[in-house]
Amino acid sequence: MAKESLPEWPPQLTEAQVHSLTLLATTYALSHGLVYLPVASVQPPTPTSTIHAPLSLFPSPVPRRLFNQARNLQSLYNKLYARIAMDEVFLDRVMGVNGVGKVDEFTGELWKRWKRLRDEGGVVQSLQLGLFRSDYMVHVPRKDEPANLKQVEFNTISSSFGPLSERSSQLHRYLHASTGYYGASAHLTADKFPPNTTISGLVEGLAEAHRAYNIPDTRILFVVQPGERNVFDQRWLEYELLERHSIHVIRQTFDELSASAHIEATTKALRITLDPSLFSSPSSSTSNSASIEISTIYFRAGYTPTDYPTLAHYDIRYLLESSRAIKCPSIPLQLAGGKKVQEILTKSGVLESFLPEDEHKPHDLTAIRETWMEMWSLDENGDSGVQKARDKALELVLKPQREGGGNNVYKESIPAFLDTLPEAEREAWIAMKLIKTPEGLGNYLVRAGGGGTGLEGAVKTEVVSELGIFGWALFGEKDGERKVVKEKEAGWLVRTKGKESNEGGVAAGFSVLDSIVLV
Ligand code: ADP
Ligand code: MG
Ligand code: MG
Repeated sequence: MAKESLPEWPPQLTEAQVHSLTLLATTYALSHGLVYLPVASVQPPTPTSTIHAPLSLFPSPVPRRLFNQARNLQSLYNKLYARIAMDEVFLDRVMGVNGVGKVDEFTGELWKRWKRLRDEGGVVQSLQLGLFRSDYMVHVPRKDEPANLKQVEFNTISSSFGPLSERSSQLHRYLHASTGYYGASAHLTADKFPPNTTISGLVEGLAEAHRAYNIPDTRILFVVQPGERNVFDQRWLEYELLERHSIHVIRQTFDELSASAHIEATTKALRITLDPSLFSSPSSSTSNSASIEISTIYFRAGYTPTDYPTLAHYDIRYLLESSRAIKCPSIPLQLAGGKKVQEILTKSGVLESFLPEDEHKPHDLTAIRETWMEMWSLDENGDSGVQKARDKALELVLKPQREGGGNNVYKESIPAFLDTLPEAEREAWIAMKLIKTPEGLGNYLVRAGGGGTGLEGAVKTEVVSELGIFGWALFGEKDGERKVVKEKEAGWLVRTKGKESNEGGVAAGFSVLDSIVLV
């Protein structure tokens, strides 16, 4: 599909229409849980107010062909990353202390604990769960060339904004139903708003793991960050687990777990001690009145070094890893999501080693490969990886082994950064060609209180959108072989940022929640 199929965006509105849509949007968001805790949050102990999540007034146009392509790839990507997580030899080589773990302390600390656990014969749970998000942007290589889909990254830990993206899709449907967007664009018809059921989709994965654990009176543990402002994105998953699957959730930070978590010596069950008065179920209060067994550990913390302010925090991670609970993700699955792995996959023969051709159509591998931008490691061939990065700096982004946004180095900042990067640390960085997003797309972005921009209300600006496809996989050793037991695609997310901003983290305040109008 050629560029000309993307309409000029956003459609023209009068000032009164912008004002009216903004009021409808923010009140809808506030009343439907498309919300955050405010910056000066009063929790703990209990919050008393929310702010609406940053949002766009219009959905963003995405070619139907590319949207379908992204969704169709998810199943392959689910399998691919599950297989990587099950390949100890590969992960040891790439992320271990002879690889990235040697120069990147965070990766090294995680890997060392996983290694120690294996050396002690301490991996007692053969199943793992991944809740994934594969992120893409529309790439237009040159003006008037066809648009195609390129992957930004693949997330294997704390993939967020599933629930809020479902709410954001509903917001745009509501604005359309309520106002018809004042007839501003012929593209905005109800059949062009694709359904988005991330909440039930992601929860299905968690529930599948819980059922596979198959022990009554167990709960799912959400490991969360203290002072998390994006709590509602997590709470929606809890409500769905309880309402649809009758599964209870316990939320704890690493610090809380240091006091509350212990492993039963014989069974290796992870048990969390809570105030006994907090147990409502008679069955759980009879045998062991003060603690409850955990079936599945869902990490919404632990993806960034600041979650581990002391080595003791890594040891809590180790304790959790050593339990019989199913981890989402395990340490190896977290390591599999490293930017370095994404880069190594592009090397000849690596993809085939994880998705052998006898199982898949050769076309599948081509389809995956076509979503990749050129990548290389800064330590490639002596100085040549760095030299190439200097030569092509303006077309590049450099990425370390980090998640959560705000860690990359872009374009003109690259040469000076390379001047100061110690040679030993090159291995922890990858260079990636920048995706060239379509021109001429804009939107109205609305941030509570201006989101620190000083701009109240809707701000019209040229934008870049990032499409994330959610998926999950339950995998590991079953019936004597390593395999993907079950996997599914689980909805999508669109985040949109002002074109001037290099980064796209919603939580970091750079981008807003959006949705799709298919064109
Ligand atoms: P993180 O794990 O921190 O989210 P990402 O790889 O997603 O790291 O990079 C953060 C942001 O940087 C992305 O959301 C996107 O806005 C931008 N970005 C990353 N890679 C590219 C690329 N190849 N081309 C254009 N923008 C990119
Ligand atoms: Mg990421
Ligand atoms: Mg990202």
